[in-house]
Amino acid sequence: MRRDLAQLTSREYDLIVVGAGVHGAWAAWDAVLRGLKVALVERGDFGGATSGNSLQMLDCWPSPPRLLDVASLRTSLAETATILRLAPHLAQPLPCLLPLRHGLKQFPPLLNAACRAHSLLRGGMDEPLPPKAKVIPAAELGRWAPEPLVRGARAGLLWHNGQLDDAQRLCLALADAAWRGGAAVANYVDVREVITRNGWAVGVRARDVIDDAELEIRGRAVLVAAGPWTRELTGQAPRQPQWALGCNVVLDRPIGRAAVALRSPFGRHKDPLRGGRLLFMAPWRGRTILGASYRLSLGAPQRPAVWADDFLTLLGLFNRACPELALQPQEVCSVRWGLLPLAQGGVAPLGGGLSTRPQVRAMAISGGPKRLFALSPVELTTARALAQRAVDLVLAHLGLRGRACRTARQPLWDEPAALTANPPSAIDQASLDRLAVDYGHNAAQVAALAADDQALAQPLSADCPVLGCQVAFAARREMAARLADVILRRTEMGKFGPPPDEAVRRAATIMARELGWGDKRLDDELTLARRAFFLTRQVRQAQGQPLKRFIG
Ligand SMILES: Cc1cc2nc3c(=O)[nH]c(=O)nc-3n(C[C@H](O)[C@H](O)[C@H](O)COP(=O)(O)OP(=O)(O)OC[C@H]3O[C@@H](n4cnc5c(N)ncnc54)[C@H](O)[C@@H]3O)c2cc1C
Repeated sequence: MRRDLAQLTSREYDLIVVGAGVHGAWAAWDAVLRGLKVALVERGDFGGATSGNSLQMLDCWPSPPRLLDVASLRTSLAETATILRLAPHLAQPLPCLLPLRHGLKQFPPLLNAACRAHSLLRGGMDEPLPPKAKVIPAAELGRWAPEPLVRGARAGLLWHNGQLDDAQRLCLALADAAWRGGAAVANYVDVREVITRNGWAVGVRARDVIDDAELEIRGRAVLVAAGPWTRELTGQAPRQPQWALGCNVVLDRPIGRAAVALRSPFGRHKDPLRGGRLLFMAPWRGRTILGASYRLSLGAPQRPAVWADDFLTLLGLFNRACPELALQPQEVCSVRWGLLPLAQGGVAPLGGGLSTRPQVRAMAISGGPKRLFALSPVELTTARALAQRAVDLVLAHLGLRGRACRTARQPLWDEPAALTANPPSAIDQASLDRLAVDYGHNAAQVAALAADDQALAQPLSADCPVLGCQVAFAARREMAARLADVILRRTEMGKFGPPPDEAVRRAATIMARELGWGDKRLDDELTLARRAFFLTRQVRQAQGQPLKRFIG
């Protein structure tokens, strides 16, 4: 995948997709598969906003409120099965456990309904499906979760969600698939406005963030999938407050096999956003991801205010829900946050809290330009289905109905090519196995870079197993334009907290060589990359503060 802005601006597209979060990336690939000429532009990096900071669960939880919306529950189940099938290297089934402390007597009707609905809705779907939900006895709980989390529980509800290994890699894989199918794809292109002529959307005006240059991209239709920023770009009247800030943290502590759901001490009735009734602790790459807490997002969506206290509050909620956990700030290896839309009316009790209704709109319906479309997301689980709806709508407006969507059948994964049969000698087998998991069919190409240049076969430092060839591959083939892209989104360097400085410097040197950076640019990139861990460091330094303070 190459960033070619000359090509981007040299032709007219059938569809310009603005935003390469999970929705925009699915939409671009879908449109390519249906024969459209597509441009996909992203003002930051692929999946670098809310998509890359979510809990990464493909959510099939048959909760009582969701049982009332059977269609949405069925879509979630079907989409989870689809992603597990299409991208087995990026998603796995995730057992989830809700310990039931009050015994079965208080729960049977709802629980039985939930389990039965789960089984019924799975009927007729393709494999691989998450196994059926069931109630398990207290004696079995220890098989799934550590003792403190299930202490005092008399039974447990066990069901399966899916879990993305890395939502940013999913966005990258989709953008890459669109590019290989002929789309023009570019990150660090900030769309400033939609260009209209005689009431029709005919393109976008944008800025190349890297070289600070103005760009004009021409298209017959524009789909804005810019998450929280969609309303501004599509000229919808600002509605305050519109967004909730959601926070997760990754903890340097393993948990058992299952994600454990704990009842939030806030409770739904006390939470003004009617958000996290359940808090989740999910196993993730040998660590634990905790989420989520929500509050109103203050300030414009361009610059939401986020503080260390937001993450300390989340730890406090978990400690209140299960005091035996005794979570400490210094255990936090990374913090993540994103914005979620609020339902019409916003805050409870008058408003509906977090939005549960994803939307695709032709802006012409509300007096906006023709062939301008806006996508309002709710969750990444159903992003493929929502993108399909968006592309259906675009095709109808372009007079191209009848081109069937193929994204539910088209794998994002080929088996890695003979990586173990003929490994480049300098890379050890454990690293080769890791490359196969992380890069799928591209793994052989990553390893081949090290065969050409043996120095790239080495880990970046003694305590950072990422190989030099991964950094070179990110720059050459994965459109990493900044050092932070490599550290946060192309490799595991910064996934679990600030990486060792020696590894950062070595990665910066490889990037500088690949992309022709001078000394000043190299220094700027190092500064920016280190700044990315500012909040994590602040949270860790809160060591010893009484967490109780944050939740009163
Ligand atoms: C804390 C938290 C936990 C969550 N957990 C889950 C979960 O477990 N399961 C689940 O299914 N969902 C979860 N979600 C919801 C899910 O993450 C979001 O619904 C989803 O990621 C939204 O995707 P998106 O592509 O619409 O938005 P984004 O990922 O925000 O993508 C929009 C993109 O548009 C780009 N953009 C914006 N303006 C411009 C512009 N002017 N020009 C070019 N590009 C632009 C942005 O840079 C961004 O990359 C969670 C959300 C949060 C906040």
